[in-house]
Amino acid sequence: MENLNNEFITLTIGKQKNIALIAHDGKKKELIQWCLDNKAVLEKHFLSGTGTTARMITDATGLPVRGYNSGPLGGDQQIGAKIVEGKIDFVVFLSDPLSAQPHDPDVKAFLRICQVYDIPIATNKATADFMITSALMDKEYDHMIIDFNKNIADRARTL
Ligand code: PGA
Repeated sequence: MENLNNEFITLTIGKQKNIALIAHDGKKKELIQWCLDNKAVLEKHFLSGTGTTARMITDATGLPVRGYNSGPLGGDQQIGAKIVEGKIDFVVFLSDPLSAQPHDPDVKAFLRICQVYDIPIATNKATADFMITSALMDKEYDHMIIDFNKNIADRARTL
């Protein structure tokens, strides 16, 4: 893909995606069922998730899911850091809109970092269904990300 200007670099989401799976407690059953329903697709990709979600998905489906810390203990932030490093490039995060979360600021930070890095993220089942059935699941996908090296160089020079 041709870069439109030099503020951005092109990164590629590979054919085999690095998918993070996260569900708040009120949504865990729904995400596990979704993983069962989509097991044939999910097993073609690399899976990870927050601690409890990852464990429960593996127990229920047999899919290998690398577990980070539990969400309230920093797991969302760990996954956010992997997005910054370019190591996670696709997210299904079934958040619960009807219950207060102790780690609400982390959730907000996580959603923001997904926007910054142009990461496909589903926060409800319908979006997850559309994403997992997308023709792009079997293809590479180029997208434009802020050139962080240039960003630092510009800021250091101009501020
Ligand atoms: P959990 O964390 O999978 O460890 O329950 C989920 C979250 O609240 O982010």
